[in-house]
Amino acid sequence: MKTQDIVDALFAVQAAILANESQIESLDRAIGDGDHFINIRRGLEVLAAMRDELEPLPPAAAFNRIGTKLLSTIGGASGPLISSLFLAMGKSLAAQDTPDRRQFAAAFMAGVEAIKVRGKADLGEKTMLDVLIPAARQLVQFAEQELPLAEACALLSAEAEHNMLATRDMIASKGRASFLGERALGHVDPGSKTCEVAITAVCQSLL
Ligand code: ADP
Ligand code: MG
Ligand code: MG
Repeated sequence: MKTQDIVDALFAVQAAILANESQIESLDRAIGDGDHFINIRRGLEVLAAMRDELEPLPPAAAFNRIGTKLLSTIGGASGPLISSLFLAMGKSLAAQDTPDRRQFAAAFMAGVEAIKVRGKADLGEKTMLDVLIPAARQLVQFAEQELPLAEACALLSAEAEHNMLATRDMIASKGRASFLGERALGHVDPGSKTCEVAITAVCQSLL
């Protein structure tokens, strides 16, 4: 993986998030405070503007820069959480100039672990982690099996969609939706929708 792949993936995520605006908006309006789409869009705009700065950096430094920048641009709960994903990925890849698939998968796992620690959350709490934790496990497994990229991507996307939809039937124990108790039932978690869209977009951009 090269930094160019990371930059291309960021632009793919930006396009996909914009294409899903109304859905992401309405989810956070239903069980949050309605700012999730705006938070994420602002973060992606700032990253897109950093293209020239990111491209010459090795992947670890690029992830570190992305994480640092997102901490100051995405507000709310999701800002520090997503920032910690990228900072931990940068740390994990510090020794690699051109990380291979296994190293990238291990870095993503470290990033998701960092979100768990930062958010004091785990599976089943109706958050972005319900999509991210299984995705990280799959990535590690697929890298070990050397599964062809197209096959891995199809499985990752299908699993992310399934897990995003499953948050509909969960009661939130973290974040704003936790204030709603059972009233959050029947609504997908906005952060898990964003992550599902992002995972599918990253996959498509790498293929
Ligand atoms: P805020 O809730 O502060 O307005 P956002 O709307 O940007 O922030 O993000 C909300 C999303 O953040 C939720 O949909 C959920 O996926 C995620 N989230 C909230 N709290 C946590 C947590 N403790 N751990 C993991 N993810 C969380
Ligand atoms: Mg919100
Ligand atoms: Mg908010």
